[in-house]
Amino acid sequence: MLDLPPGVSLHRGYLDRASQENLALEIAEIIARAPLYTCAMPRTGALMSVRMTNCGELGWLSDKDGGYRYAPRHPVTDEAWPAIPTALLLAWERLAGYPAAPEACLINVYDAEARMGAHQDRDEKNFAAPVVSLSLGADCRFRVGGTRRGGKTMSLVLSSGDALVLGGPSRLCFHGVDRVLPTLPALLAPNLPAGAARINLTLRRVS
Ligand code: FE
Repeated sequence: MLDLPPGVSLHRGYLDRASQENLALEIAEIIARAPLYTCAMPRTGALMSVRMTNCGELGWLSDKDGGYRYAPRHPVTDEAWPAIPTALLLAWERLAGYPAAPEACLINVYDAEARMGAHQDRDEKNFAAPVVSLSLGADCRFRVGGTRRGGKTMSLVLSSGDALVLGGPSRLCFHGVDRVLPTLPALLAPNLPAGAARINLTLRRVS
């Protein structure tokens, strides 16, 4: 049994395979309307290896001059973000333990080589609500630590259909993706965007 930090909860197989396939198709429709973009880090302008888009009232983005932020419109199309799929709203309702619906769902698309350095999700104005995260596609090696950079961390494998909640004392924990593992389920592959191995969906309250 994994000894997760307090405030972190893992729901293995939260979505069954049929729900994963349906959700992947819904995400593909969202991406068709709100295309994936590559974010640049503030100041350095270094590009992230993960491609992104969003659904919900607000979407997360970053560029060299504007930095990390939430915005109501897509940075390329200037359109409002598509709505959050019902399956995700339901997952939030069941897992978040928070009385209001999520305002943002960040869609991170990992290709086989993509990774995500250790970071905190701290661009929201509201840390009372947790971050609820769902994985689709290939497994990844996920790393989670405490609220101090450089502190003790542990790693776990997140698989397609797993839900992870970062809340309470772990709402501002450092976390990242060390690597994507070569385990993309064959049945799910046709439903993912070209080049994608893994999709992570994170639901947040922002305001
Ligand atoms: Fe994060």
